[in-house]
Amino acid sequence: MEELICLGIESTAHTFGVGVATEGGRILANVKNVYVPPKGGIHPREAAQHHASVAGKTVREALKAAKLSPKDLDLISFARGPGLGPTLRTGATAARALAIWLQKPIVGVNHCIAHIEIGRMTTGAVDPVTLYVSGGNSQVIAFDAGRYRVFGETLDIPVGNCLDVFARELGLPHPGGPKIEQLAKEGKNYIPLPYVVKGMDMSFSGMLTEAIRKYRSGANPRDLCLSLQETAFASLVEVTERALAHTEKKEVMLTGGVAANSRLREMLKLMADEHDAKFFVPPSEYCQDCGAMIAWTGILAFKHGAGQKVEDTGVIQRWRTDQVDIPWRS
Ligand code: AMP
Ligand code: MG
Repeated sequence: MEELICLGIESTAHTFGVGVATEGGRILANVKNVYVPPKGGIHPREAAQHHASVAGKTVREALKAAKLSPKDLDLISFARGPGLGPTLRTGATAARALAIWLQKPIVGVNHCIAHIEIGRMTTGAVDPVTLYVSGGNSQVIAFDAGRYRVFGETLDIPVGNCLDVFARELGLPHPGGPKIEQLAKEGKNYIPLPYVVKGMDMSFSGMLTEAIRKYRSGANPRDLCLSLQETAFASLVEVTERALAHTEKKEVMLTGGVAANSRLREMLKLMADEHDAKFFVPPSEYCQDCGAMIAWTGILAFKHGAGQKVEDTGVIQRWRTDQVDIPWRS
């Protein structure tokens, strides 16, 4: 029997990604085109127009990289949510067109779960507590009783968005996270900022407002970048630690765009070490939004009975991680 081959499309936000994965866990292609706003943050409709304009070309590039022709594909998957409505619909439209043209099954997958699955596949982590931190999400997730449960999450803005907005205040271009990390390295003094953990959830908007206020009153921007990172990351590590203690799992995984941050990695690894838990970070290509994670999760889901009629592939903008059954792990 030949392996299933799936082409997956990611389009929840700024990235239009096309990946090709096999049933055996080989990634044959992972091509992306990222929308960079000319100024300010991401405008959903402009991002969607970008995605529409690169969709055909990105699919062709992925097939070329995988050395496949369209007829070699067995399955089409796409990120059905959560994400921005216009960009999600653009990716879904491309996926439907391919599925109809090739007469192949189509399956919509959850973007957050795809981050975890590509992370498990590429690191060898089996059952981690996952901290998923990006421009659009901040969640602490662990598998329990058939689903990925959200143990803690942001009550307001995602941590990546918080860093991006503060960077904009400093006049730095999008995305701000990497620039904040550089400036933080030159910071010397910790300036107290509101630290908010409520129950198992984090909140970053009060901290952001206060950092902006202090900047406008003349505080050193490098010190503020350091303080923003220390405060935000400490709350993420606290919630991850409590989830780890509660679940008694033995692995911690960090993923999402903010996983690139070396200070966050260091803090989380220190915590994992103290609990004798192994610490994993997927290769950066797979921490970021990408088509490969959608293709791989599409295979997992399809092999366990998932798959939609094309007319049932409407996107779900606010699709929660814990609303999805995970039969491949039950
Ligand atoms: P994603 O939404 O997963 O594509 O991730 C993008 C987010 O990751 C943006 O908010 C970036 O600012 C953030 N990011 C990328 N690199 C870093 C870094 N080195 N430190 C902090 N945040 C980062
Ligand atoms: Mg993401």
